[in-house]
Amino acid sequence: MDYDRIFGDAIARLKAERRYRVFTDLARKAGRFPRAVDHGTANGREIVIWCSNDYLGMGQHPAVIEAMHEAIDRYGAGAGGTRNISGTHHAVIELEAELAGLHGKPAALVFTSGFVANEAALSTLGKLLPDCLILSDALNHASMIEGIRHAGCERQVFRHNDLAHLEELLKAAGRDRAKLIAFESVYSMDGDIAPLAAICDLAETYNALTYLDEVHAVGMYGRTGAGVAERDGVMARIDVIEGTLAKAFGVVGGYIAASADLVDAVRSHAPGFIFTTTIPPAVAAGARASIRYLRAHDEMRERHQERAATLKAMLARAGLPVMPSESHIVPVFVGDPAMCKQASDRLLDEHGIYIQPINYPTVPRGTERLRITPTPLHDDAMMRDLVNALSAVWQELGLRQAA
Ligand SMILES: *Cc1c(COP(=O)(O)O)cnc(C)c1O
Repeated sequence: MDYDRIFGDAIARLKAERRYRVFTDLARKAGRFPRAVDHGTANGREIVIWCSNDYLGMGQHPAVIEAMHEAIDRYGAGAGGTRNISGTHHAVIELEAELAGLHGKPAALVFTSGFVANEAALSTLGKLLPDCLILSDALNHASMIEGIRHAGCERQVFRHNDLAHLEELLKAAGRDRAKLIAFESVYSMDGDIAPLAAICDLAETYNALTYLDEVHAVGMYGRTGAGVAERDGVMARIDVIEGTLAKAFGVVGGYIAASADLVDAVRSHAPGFIFTTTIPPAVAAGARASIRYLRAHDEMRERHQERAATLKAMLARAGLPVMPSESHIVPVFVGDPAMCKQASDRLLDEHGIYIQPINYPTVPRGTERLRITPTPLHDDAMMRDLVNALSAVWQELGLRQAA
């Protein structure tokens, strides 16, 4: 058995399909975001990041950094173990209370990441509910798909945001069967938003639980940053809200917020929660500071939305094929994996602009794109530089303009 050849062949297949991922070696600079130092070049020049999921720049916010420094000085580095053995730290309890308050739920539970939260919660719910049917949106994130797979129960996929198809499946299952609808609010590659109220209506009509991934919305939508469910006034109608502490909140970790019994059941049964060390107290303190700040600063969200709208308008004016998006996410269509990678490489090499190419399997083949995420810290001058650079690269590579 030539083990190394097997691994080498696996890599070669990815390269042949142009799916091999190359990570860009950057160091973000606190206080300078969205600027970062490019360690991939000999001179370590400064570049501008245009594809960060640190959507509001909270990863460098003084309130967050101060809370983390203070917590590390007071509590030390690690949590000390799994929650069950010795790692239930007061800072994590406080964070869970903050999250429950944010979402208007009786309880919340913190996991080591948003991925783990989805995997652990969905697999456990699907196992605990007898003969459960999970109805999953076709564009759900890989972490939800993993959780649903590990639940071992029946799963049916409904066409993306298609209420008629969802209703058809709910009706066929009948009111009496246990059903869980798993979906997202903001879908991160197209930037479209699910019809939350209509999905809640269907869930009530057919007696199903709702499980909503608000990873790309928490901190950014709703009057206090609780997400699209808050914005749309349906937070109380969603049974489980799942979020991350790693994107708009700028730190790391994931969570669910739900009823006390549901949270207690997941806490008590999910291996992905029980058998792993919890987040360090400094991370919990930083996340809590970030949530508290964003709950009180709606102007961050206003500025964020204004920046996204401004950039979309500038791209459209320049004839660049900006894809329709209802959110802060600004995808620009390329439609070819090799071209997408080349465009990204040229932007970085020639213009000091970092936008990671988005290729299959993250998006369907033929819809490869550059996914741009303007933050409140991207100013007008940066936007002009971006549009000029994109226009130059589009010209050089002969890429498709806006229709
Ligand atoms: C990023 C992401 C996750 C995972 O969150 P992490 O905290 O990064 O693990 C879950 N759901 C969606 C939709 C995501 O985009």
